[in-house]
Amino acid sequence: MTESTNLNIAVVGAGPGGYAAAFLAADLGMTVTLIDPEVNPGGVCLYRGCIPSKALLHVAKLIEESHQAKDWGIEFASPKIDLARLRSFKENVVKKLTGGLGVLSKQRKIHYVKGRAEFENSTTLQVTKSNGSQESLSFDKIILATGSRPAIVPALKLDTPRMMDSTGALNLEDIPGTLLVVGGGYIGLELGSVYAALGTRVTVVEMLPGLLPGADRDLVLPLHKRLEKMFDGIRLNTTVASVQDEGNGIRATLKAQDGTTQEKLFDRVLVSVGRKPNSEIPGIEKTRAQVGERGFIQVNKQLQTDDPDVYAIGDVVGEPMLAHKASHEGRTAVEAIAGHKVAFEPNAIPAVVFTDPELAWCGLTETQAQNENREVKVVKFPWAASGRAITLDRPEGMTKILFDPQTERVLGVGIVGAGAGEMIAEGVLAIEMAALARDVALTIHPHPTLSETVMESAEVFFGTSTHIYRPKRG
Ligand code: NAD
Repeated sequence: MTESTNLNIAVVGAGPGGYAAAFLAADLGMTVTLIDPEVNPGGVCLYRGCIPSKALLHVAKLIEESHQAKDWGIEFASPKIDLARLRSFKENVVKKLTGGLGVLSKQRKIHYVKGRAEFENSTTLQVTKSNGSQESLSFDKIILATGSRPAIVPALKLDTPRMMDSTGALNLEDIPGTLLVVGGGYIGLELGSVYAALGTRVTVVEMLPGLLPGADRDLVLPLHKRLEKMFDGIRLNTTVASVQDEGNGIRATLKAQDGTTQEKLFDRVLVSVGRKPNSEIPGIEKTRAQVGERGFIQVNKQLQTDDPDVYAIGDVVGEPMLAHKASHEGRTAVEAIAGHKVAFEPNAIPAVVFTDPELAWCGLTETQAQNENREVKVVKFPWAASGRAITLDRPEGMTKILFDPQTERVLGVGIVGAGAGEMIAEGVLAIEMAALARDVALTIHPHPTLSETVMESAEVFFGTSTHIYRPKRG
């Protein structure tokens, strides 16, 4: 195996994919240039995505719990919201993390260029810096990590700050009286929850028959039920046919599948109907990299494009558009460039929706197994039987595991409930380590924790879960 770490590489885009790639490349001894328009690494995830939304969701959860506390004998007055302070909390979180990445980048002696890159050829980039100056830089290899942007619906294009995408919604300019959320996916439900907790009356419109189309229905159900209480309305099988700026609000025409329409005035509208890859990199046609039909740059398992000198990672190469997938792809691409024998072929990529309750899954889903006619044994452990869930007064959760009935291997895990996002990593590890039902059942989990529900699900597989009574047959 040839191994060369004495290379000069460029990474275009400094999100969780790009900076993870750049940092590893520097750690392996490569000379690294990282190019991004922001002052520090971070990308959409840190500046306008995962991180600010999670800071706001943390606050939303606190507000929701303060309401629930009444049931526990503690009554709080209605929260007084200082919006400027809330915004500055969120902005400080972003500043702290992106600033930290800037320091880590400097410590690794990465040449960080604040600017935008354009291809001159496969190994040369013309970089336009934020001060307008241009520089032509040549490299041995280039990694594209340009990410994605919110998808636009032509019928919902209006030039008014009342129409928002996720970036606008995260700016939190005010607390609107009413908000229409178009799209019941990750962003719509997370940001819808934030606004609802702050006091906005939220209506979610989803064109498909259920929220979060990628997740199993039984996992979505407890979330749907709770969101129904939080939101003004959840309209499934519905789209927004048109929007009109009426000065004092946006008049939206909601169109149900049966053709019936309803007009309603909203203070603001959030459009969250998916994301599009940023593959229109200027000059990319001067390389041999190919862009596929859906706009994703095509790569092999080493994340190499059809041009041997150009690699691409993260949202720009395909679904799922998740930060943790991008980081792993970035590290794989760098190892491939370094000559290591690697491939990006995970058995499970976790998905987490940070609503309350959280929804998380990894590996095979039950819906997928049904669609593929795959024989699986599905076991479920209701959190009503979990001591920890009861102490939290959150019995609505559920942990489920899909096993291969013959080999008893864990194939998929799904969890809905408070803290599901932290718990799912155990499922990913189980799948990656090819754990069997017995391995999970015999792994001593601390009591009292929600993590016990994973162990007990595996016990359900054998019909011997401690906290579930199953009458004997016959
Ligand atoms: P999404 O794909 O999660 O959801 C979009 C939803 O909009 C779907 O349910 C879809 O059926 C619906 N939809 C599409 N067109 C519509 C229309 N015209 N009218 C009504 N509904 C319509 O997309 P998103 O919420 O915009 O998020 C984009 C991506 O960002 C996600 O796929 C995810 O990869 C990433 N993300 C992840 C997290 C997380 O990991 N927690 C959080 C936010 C975003």
